[in-house]
Amino acid sequence: MQQAAAPKISFVSLGCPKALVDSERIITRLRAEGYELARKHDGADIVIVNTCGFLDSAKQESLGAIGEAMAANGKVIVTGCMGAEPEQIEAAYPGVLSITGPQQYESVLDAVHRALPPVHNPHLDLMPPQGIKLTPRHYAYLKISEGCNNRCSFCIIPKLRGDLVSRPANEVLREAENLVKAGVKELLVVSQDTSAYGVDVKYATSIWKDREVRAKFFDLAKELGELGAWVRLQYVYPYPHVDEVIGLMNTNKNVLPYLDIPFQHAAPEVLKAMKRPAAQDKTLARIKKWREECPDLTLRSTFIVGFPGETESDFQYLLDWLEEAQIDRVGAFKYESVAGAPSNALGNAVPEEIKQQRWNALMARQQVISAKRLKRKVGTRQQVIIDEVGPTVSKGRSKSDAPDIDGAVYVSSRRPLRVGEIVTAKIERADAYDLHGTVAGF
Ligand code: SF4
Repeated sequence: MQQAAAPKISFVSLGCPKALVDSERIITRLRAEGYELARKHDGADIVIVNTCGFLDSAKQESLGAIGEAMAANGKVIVTGCMGAEPEQIEAAYPGVLSITGPQQYESVLDAVHRALPPVHNPHLDLMPPQGIKLTPRHYAYLKISEGCNNRCSFCIIPKLRGDLVSRPANEVLREAENLVKAGVKELLVVSQDTSAYGVDVKYATSIWKDREVRAKFFDLAKELGELGAWVRLQYVYPYPHVDEVIGLMNTNKNVLPYLDIPFQHAAPEVLKAMKRPAAQDKTLARIKKWREECPDLTLRSTFIVGFPGETESDFQYLLDWLEEAQIDRVGAFKYESVAGAPSNALGNAVPEEIKQQRWNALMARQQVISAKRLKRKVGTRQQVIIDEVGPTVSKGRSKSDAPDIDGAVYVSSRRPLRVGEIVTAKIERADAYDLHGTVAGF
């Protein structure tokens, strides 16, 4: 009997790592039901666009992607953050088949089933247990919660995604274990506010491998560290219990000495206007203490310059703070007003050219700090996970580098390396953002 051809779906994933996790979940389910992914819109039976609605520029990008899909294919399902406010999409493209918001996996699947019923696929069970991944196979994002209980004035995520909803610890651990079994070497723990994990469920326990595990930042990090893969903690706010996790980084080599803390600013008045969680004047002292306790700790952060009302002295405060804190990795953004964000009503907007000047000044200052921090690594040995192989030099990352956002380590090797392999490299040279070295052990 001839097998019916599998229905084909073209998938566009826009936005942040959290949206990528949503895309992976939808694709995993669709593959499990026998759908195939198409490389192009015009060869597909249907197109799914997972949108981002964080900034107005992201909305424009999302609308553009929907437009392309409509033109090339015509059968389009829209999901993701922008789907939480469907009016704009409906107005621009009245012919889209369905629009759903973020994490509405079931609604997306229902829309697919209606437009394109699944066919029986005898290869169903061949699907790898971790699902189909959009990121390379050797690292994976692990989303531990949805939504956010904070109300930062520049952000509309709580409006789009709702309050914090944490996944049970055993569910997260099961997913992580499956990923590791399938070859994932690095787990990137993400959520809007990773250190708030479990607050909504009062740190409820669940059974994992015959023991009770609390849905709590420290407990989850500890258990994840036992799975054998690197565990990188992203989007952490400096709540007091983060101190315990620093200790864990010293005792469990898989819990990477790396924290991504989006400070966004340092000047007290700006932080107040931003309504940032855990904003406090003791942050510098805590960073100092963390570094004393865990000298290898790498800190990554993001900052917004030109927030409404930011004065020259606020900005200078930020530069001085940065100098003092010696943050290893920094991403900076010029403030952009987002439709629906309370900060739009603040007044005292900073002119665009001042924003640009401040952005330039911050990046220049950070480049010097980054170069200085990296220079300390010359002569050391670092473990490096290989992302891309080359004939003589391969590109990888040390424990201090998250994929896509941080620097790289370029390593030369006498024997060919494999993607996902972790090698030991002797660091010979550093520039502003990257390291260079030679493989000294496998
Ligand atoms: S912590 Fe603030 S910036 Fe981050 S998602 Fe929550 S409200 Fe938005």
